[in-house]
Amino acid sequence: MKRKYIFVVGGVMSGIGKGITTSSLLKILKSKGYSATAMNIDPYVNVDAGTMNPVEHGEVFVTDDGAECDQDIGNYERFSGDSITKDNYLTTGKVYQTVINKERNLEYKGKCVEVVPHIPNEVISRIKKAGQVTDSEFVLIEIGGTIGEYQNLLFLEAARMMHLKNPKDVLIVLVSYLPVPKTIGEMKTKPTQSASRALNEAGLQPDIIVGRSSMPIDEPRKKKISTFCNIDPKDVISAPDSQSIYHIPLILDSEKIGERILKKLNAPLRKGKNGLRDWENFVKKSENNTKEVKIAIVGKYFETGEFVLTDSYISVIEAIKHACCKLGYKEKISWLSSEKYEKDKKNVKELSNYDGVIVPGGFGNRGVEGKINAISYCREMKIPFLGLCLGMQLAVIEHARNNCGLKKASSTEVDENCKYPVISLMQSQKSNLKNKKYGGTMRLGAYSCALRTDTISRKAYKNKNISERHRHRFEVNNEYKDILEKGGMVIAGTNPELDLVEIIEIKKHPFFVGVQFHPEFKSRPLTGHPLFVEFIKAAGN
Ligand code: GLN
Repeated sequence: MKRKYIFVVGGVMSGIGKGITTSSLLKILKSKGYSATAMNIDPYVNVDAGTMNPVEHGEVFVTDDGAECDQDIGNYERFSGDSITKDNYLTTGKVYQTVINKERNLEYKGKCVEVVPHIPNEVISRIKKAGQVTDSEFVLIEIGGTIGEYQNLLFLEAARMMHLKNPKDVLIVLVSYLPVPKTIGEMKTKPTQSASRALNEAGLQPDIIVGRSSMPIDEPRKKKISTFCNIDPKDVISAPDSQSIYHIPLILDSEKIGERILKKLNAPLRKGKNGLRDWENFVKKSENNTKEVKIAIVGKYFETGEFVLTDSYISVIEAIKHACCKLGYKEKISWLSSEKYEKDKKNVKELSNYDGVIVPGGFGNRGVEGKINAISYCREMKIPFLGLCLGMQLAVIEHARNNCGLKKASSTEVDENCKYPVISLMQSQKSNLKNKKYGGTMRLGAYSCALRTDTISRKAYKNKNISERHRHRFEVNNEYKDILEKGGMVIAGTNPELDLVEIIEIKKHPFFVGVQFHPEFKSRPLTGHPLFVEFIKAAGN
């Protein structure tokens, strides 16, 4: 079979679930026995997502090969179970950077380099590469932004050019919104009709319309969309709001979207596949779990309202959910601002109302002292604690100050001239910061970690050697290793190549683990991540 390409574009407005639709299609195609991969094209001029503020753009997701991506890549990984690579993430900035570099290298052999066709051609070659590298029968391409805006036009142009050349191998899925205005009380199709027309103006015709709405789309409206958008009513797929994102593959599958796609692309139905049975069991299980486990996430900005929490920490939230589902719990997640623990240390007492506490990753010095106070409380009161990246670094500082007598311990990120820099800038990072080389220069992607026997981590992973993903510039300062260990800290995991501390634990505590990496990026719905599972187990006890 020739490789097939499915473009997923958004209509009417953003934030209606284009990423989850793409992830679900990936899951559905795989469940029907096909190999498939998904890529994301972001309209931003940023070369990657690493320089984007998560408050504005959501979580920066990191792949094994160290790409800093849009959070949707995380959903592709969670839904498909595959590890996505840097070839599957593209931005306007990356495309232009590549074209300009090629021009400088005379790769266009003296030709005038123009926006059209050179930019769409570069996009097309990247799309094809993603298919080749992963050797996939299907490549799903999610185009960021919404139809009708200026910024993604060149990506639509790439889709048009690919479709023109191989109409039988390219499909367009429009994910559109159908509002149900309160004052009218009925679902309106006109905005979707307009979106479909705007797509026509770009030279494209939707093959399938996924209609997102607060309720299912009824037959009369399916017919209306069919008439005005020029498609078969069977190709209007109803995607009402659902309790959880994990329902969406099941909803879309029940609307037969997979069969429609395969038929249109002339791909035969493959028999004897397990389908979505495992997924269905997982969804059912997560719905039926009622025993609550209360997890507090302590961070900065949480009170200001400027922070879109669910987007900025989506992988942490999903990892908690996966672990809870596996263990038969229902998660109750609370966001607690560390700044109030800074103003008055006594406020940390509220943490005794929770079964477990997570201090996630972060940058800069705001709210840091409050987080350290929270960590102290968890250690003393034996509340299960998981520190992720910055959370681990702060746990080391807390331990140095309160168990090792280094009262003035800190990180050079927080206080450059601190007396005891137990956390300091990695040697390899010094020139990056000095020369203002910020983009894509952190310690990024998967690194190996050797685990020490008789530790919580070793028990959790059931493995001696693991590999986890990183995104940081600072690390535990090895000069303080002995003092920290003498004070009762266990170095449970180390990177063998560079001798970097990767995991710390505190003895005589039900669960006190800090990791320099981001285990949340590798958590998968059906299995959960070993560390999160062990953490939730301790929290549920
Ligand atoms: N700011 C810290 C560092 O750069 C931690 C980063 C993180 O939490 N991802 O090392």
